[in-house]
Amino acid sequence: MREFAFILVVVLILLAITAVRYRKQISGVIGFVRMIRDAADPSRGPKAINQPAAPATAKELVHCAACGTWVPSDRAIRFDAKTYYCSKECVKTAMAN
Ligand SMILES: [Zn+2]
Repeated sequence: MREFAFILVVVLILLAITAVRYRKQISGVIGFVRMIRDAADPSRGPKAINQPAAPATAKELVHCAACGTWVPSDRAIRFDAKTYYCSKECVKTAMAN
């Protein structure tokens, strides 16, 4: 029984040394596995990290506050959180009024 405990301790020490030596590779593998898992199940895992804080996403249409044209939010000129303009002319129009 003492031999078994000794072998267990040696194996644990070897595992600890291996883990310390290859911790970058191990964390890389863990990150990769987590990425695969999140890709398979999009409802799980941190998703909001790379998303912009803007209320409108890239393909969302927004309403020009001056002329009423609907434009994609990535092409619209954002004035504040809820106000968008389709062009600089509309911004000037809105500023003039
Ligand atoms: Zn406009």
